[in-house]
Amino acid sequence: MSIWWIRRDLRLQDNPALGQACADGAVLPVFVFDTALWDAAGPVRRAYLVNSLQLLNESMAGHLIVRYGDPVHVIPELAAEISAPSVHIGADYGPYGSMRDQQVEIALTKAGRSLIRTGSPYAVAPGRVTKADGTPYRVYTPFFKAWLAHGWRSPADNGEPQWFAAPGLVSEPLPVVSRSVYLPPVGESAAHQLWHEFQQSGLNGYDDGRNRPDIAGTSMLSAHLRWGEIHPRTVLADLDESPAHTVFRKEIAWREFYADVLHHTPTSARTWLNPKFEQMEYETGPDADQQFEAWTQGRTGYPFVDAGMRQLLTEGWMHNRVRMVTASFLVKDLHLPWQRGAWWFMKMLRDGDIASNQHGWQWVAGSGTDASPYFRIFNPVTQGLRFDPDGDYVRKYVPELRALPSKAVHEPWNHPLLAVEYPQRIVDHAHERDESLRRYAAISEDKAALPNAD
Ligand SMILES: Cc1cc2nc3c(=O)[nH]c(=O)nc-3n(C[C@H](O)[C@H](O)[C@H](O)COP(=O)(O)OP(=O)(O)OC[C@H]3O[C@@H](n4cnc5c(N)ncnc54)[C@H](O)[C@@H]3O)c2cc1C
Repeated sequence: MSIWWIRRDLRLQDNPALGQACADGAVLPVFVFDTALWDAAGPVRRAYLVNSLQLLNESMAGHLIVRYGDPVHVIPELAAEISAPSVHIGADYGPYGSMRDQQVEIALTKAGRSLIRTGSPYAVAPGRVTKADGTPYRVYTPFFKAWLAHGWRSPADNGEPQWFAAPGLVSEPLPVVSRSVYLPPVGESAAHQLWHEFQQSGLNGYDDGRNRPDIAGTSMLSAHLRWGEIHPRTVLADLDESPAHTVFRKEIAWREFYADVLHHTPTSARTWLNPKFEQMEYETGPDADQQFEAWTQGRTGYPFVDAGMRQLLTEGWMHNRVRMVTASFLVKDLHLPWQRGAWWFMKMLRDGDIASNQHGWQWVAGSGTDASPYFRIFNPVTQGLRFDPDGDYVRKYVPELRALPSKAVHEPWNHPLLAVEYPQRIVDHAHERDESLRRYAAISEDKAALPNAD
């Protein structure tokens, strides 16, 4: 028998770690609520995890053992309690997770047991795809080509587990979570159903639809992938060579690229990948805190930004286009360091993933690998007019603007009588854009390369 320690692989199908555990006989499935991770999560994220675990437990006929505390102690103690010779996991490549696993491994080894890593949350494990000289890629497109050439395994068939019921071993209860938060269907079955539906409805138009937050143009699989309710291998196996499928494959590859970058540079979860950005002038103090608060609550006075931030507050999710615009607003209109925004996103997103989130932020901030040039500053009004042309997305999340027709919602200051309840703009975008470029010029060696305008 052995322990299957579940972390971000809340599924039974296509799960090589579970397959390896099954090869050792009966399997004891265990989840540890680690205070370090639990405390950082907001209500939507917590509710998502607990609901998904509940469903997983049902599909394991109630055999899940729940524990609370530091896994570095909890897992070795549990293994000793039931005399399990081995603990099976899917490898974690994040900075915190990989260090925690190393410590668990040391403790288990000291006691004559083993920690066995099989598979990962990625089609190709971070660190596998390198340049010919063995160094990691720092730019996406060559990574993508090498990742494609490397290829990945077909979905794994891990058989039917035999669950272990240790006499006297009782699970602690799952935490109580808010019932009032919005959650889409969670769990492994929901993930497969959503993927199936997206293949019928949106996938073939993904190349056109993916930039529009006002339509269901993307898969919304991110949280299912984040919690491992479906493996990217399973998704990739259904794609063909058509243009739309190719674009979708490229998006999955961004997730793999960012995991690879973080694996090679764990400090980039907290600090600027390009260190020169550390020298940039950032706002601090009470005014900055007030503006940050307005941003988190969707009260900046810029409708496209506010709609996104309110979608995040209520649903724990935001469309990629709007993530880019809201992130740009924090960094380039409010002049706050990207880490403040990334912290809020991680707390609130149900798909919050340290690699995709921190590097999504660094991309927008211009400080990351393969970054967008710093001087490409998103204009929150023109982005709204372009990607939410009828204003439906804004009207959905900003009720104070529902009286404004069509695209007028993007510039409510032109219709003050129809938007009396809506906040005034907290900054002037044109002014802050110039200010942002000034701050960038101050840290840039190549000042002549800076453009005058967009
Ligand atoms: C500032 C910022 C923060 C982000 N934070 C996260 C995060 O915490 N977790 C997260 O999963 N994604 C994050 N993203 C990436 C992207 O916004 C989401 O993956 C996407 O919006 C999820 O919606 P979807 O599943 O409908 O995506 P689809 O468009 O259907 O894409 C399919 C899958 O590809 C992956 N993907 C797509 N775009 C990206 C991308 N740019 N980077 C990495 N993976 C991508 C996701 O796993 C996604 O589920 C962030 C992007 C930005 C700009």
